[in-house]
Amino acid sequence: EAERLGHLISDLLVLARTDENKIALEREPIHLDVLTVDVAATMEWLAAEKDITLEVHVDKPASVIGDEVRLIQVLMNLIDNAINYTNPGGRVTVKVDIRDKNVWLTVSDTGIGIAEEHVEHIFERFYRVDPARSRAAGSTGLGLSIVDWIVRAHGGTISVESQVGHGTTFTVKLPLAEQTS
Ligand code: ATP
Ligand code: MG
Repeated sequence: EAERLGHLISDLLVLARTDENKIALEREPIHLDVLTVDVAATMEWLAAEKDITLEVHVDKPASVIGDEVRLIQVLMNLIDNAINYTNPGGRVTVKVDIRDKNVWLTVSDTGIGIAEEHVEHIFERFYRVDPARSRAAGSTGLGLSIVDWIVRAHGGTISVESQVGHGTTFTVKLPLAEQTS
C-alpha cells in the first residue's frame, strides 16, 4: 500500500507540474529503437511472471529529439498496461518503425481489450475501465494521462485501437530526427 501511495504521489506531482508548465523537457537525440529494446528487456521478467511472451521488433535506427527519462516513462507505462491487461499465455508485441518522417512506436497485446464506450476516456486522469481489477494491480488510472502529456509535449500523437476479448494496440507517432550518430 505504501508503494502504491508513493506511485500515486509521484504521478500527481508530474501532472500538477505539467498543469503549471513547470516541467522542462530535455531536447537531445534519442535512439528510440535502442531505448525500446532496453526498456523491454528490463520488463521481460514482469511478462515472464505472467507467462506472457514479450516480443520486440526494431529493424532500423530511429531517432527522435526528446527527453530520455520521459520517453522511458512512455514505454514503461504502455508495456506495463499491455502486460497487466493481458491474460496468461498471451503476447505483447512492441515495434518501432519509420513511416513518413515519423517514428511509429506500437505496443500491441492479445489482452482483454477496451470497449468502445471506454476508449475515449482512457487518457483522462484516474479513469479505469474496471477499478476492481486495476486496484488489485495497484494502479491509479494516471498512467495514460501522463503518457498522453509526454507524447504531446514531444510534438507527437497517440492513438488506440481495441477489440474486446482480442486485444489492444497503442500507436505513438513522434517526429523523426536526423540521424546524428
Ligand atoms: P496506472 O496509473 O497504474 O497506470 P491504470 O493502468 O489503471 O493505472 P492507465 O494506464 O491510465 O491506468 O489506463 C487507464 C485504463 O485503461 C486502465 O485502468 C484499463 O482499464 C485501460 N487500459 C489501459 N491499457 C490497456 C490495455 N493495453 N488493454 C486493456 N485495457 C487497457
Ligand atoms: Mg497503467
